[in-house]
Amino acid sequence: MPTPADFVAATVRPEIRALSAYAVARAEGLIKLDAMENPYPLPQAVQARIAAAVALVPVNRYPEGGADAVKSALRRAFGIPEGLGLVLGNGSDELIQIITSAVAKPGAAILAPEPSFVMYRLNALYANARFVGVPLATDFALDAGAMLAAIERERPALVFLAYPNNPTGNLFATAGIEEILRAAPGMVVVDEAYHAFAEASFLPRLAEFPNLVILRTVSKIGMAGLRLGYAVAAPEWTAELNKLRQPYNLNALTQAAVPVLLAEGALFSAQAETIKAERSRLHAALGMLPGVVVFRTQTNFVLARVPDAPRWFDRLREAGILVKNLHGWHPSLEHCLRITVGTPAENDTLIAALKTIR
Ligand code: PMP
Repeated sequence: MPTPADFVAATVRPEIRALSAYAVARAEGLIKLDAMENPYPLPQAVQARIAAAVALVPVNRYPEGGADAVKSALRRAFGIPEGLGLVLGNGSDELIQIITSAVAKPGAAILAPEPSFVMYRLNALYANARFVGVPLATDFALDAGAMLAAIERERPALVFLAYPNNPTGNLFATAGIEEILRAAPGMVVVDEAYHAFAEASFLPRLAEFPNLVILRTVSKIGMAGLRLGYAVAAPEWTAELNKLRQPYNLNALTQAAVPVLLAEGALFSAQAETIKAERSRLHAALGMLPGVVVFRTQTNFVLARVPDAPRWFDRLREAGILVKNLHGWHPSLEHCLRITVGTPAENDTLIAALKTIR
């Protein structure tokens, strides 16, 4: 009798079988500096407001399909004009999947610099599209010449640019992005997951570039657990992308909580300011450690090359701190650790632990 494994081997696409599922590290009892989360728990008064809003949700009913309250709250909080379309996703991860499948005609190419956010490559694979990675320059700057050459050669249906970039943390030069937007024959997604910590955005420039789609998330500013991402673009784009959205992709509890939280703009802005100040402190402290190279960042994390990343990762873990070890991810990330900025107290503990590593 054939086994389930036989059926799997005969049925599931080989490139899917060759993958390993996305591993989320266990963090119980550790200072969690591995996933670019906002480190601050909610103030009790805000918790109470969320509890009240969530208590009223009729969970026996499907969520509101259009999530209009969430859309209005996003428009108000981030100054998104009514003339621009919005698509909401269960995290911006889901929007990456939706966008990729929208453009994945047979043979379509999807292009992104590398190293960048791994989900661009993975979603291209899920959608049976051809992923083309273009190496960043040695200082992690965008290699605009190489990108333009690849656009000319591959005629990609979609280009992803993380702005600022994950995992390197830097903001690509504006001029290079403008050139890419003008040269690309298809959609260009500027993924602004870290915009709250950066000094620049392409959102105000949507009218200039008909192929530009801005991708954002509320995960990094303090709502990672709610799973909400949003894409902003001309209504012609968002009308198509909305067709690919599962009808109830935003659950009712998220829809109730998000408007309450987005009304706390001052709280999240103050936290972002503290995170930026702490980022400078962490950057300086890392830079003073012998043998450590620390890279420029406009995000809520710092990328650093250390003498021996696996060993440093283990030492930090023994000290109760979880960071991300990127050694082995990409040749240019050799011996790199990605460290999310924590609370001042967490950063003190981190810096003290780093100083003891030999
Ligand atoms: N884009 C970038 C560049 C990211 O770094 C991340 C999170 N790691 C995401 C998108 C996805 O975020 P989320 O699904 O939480 O919205």
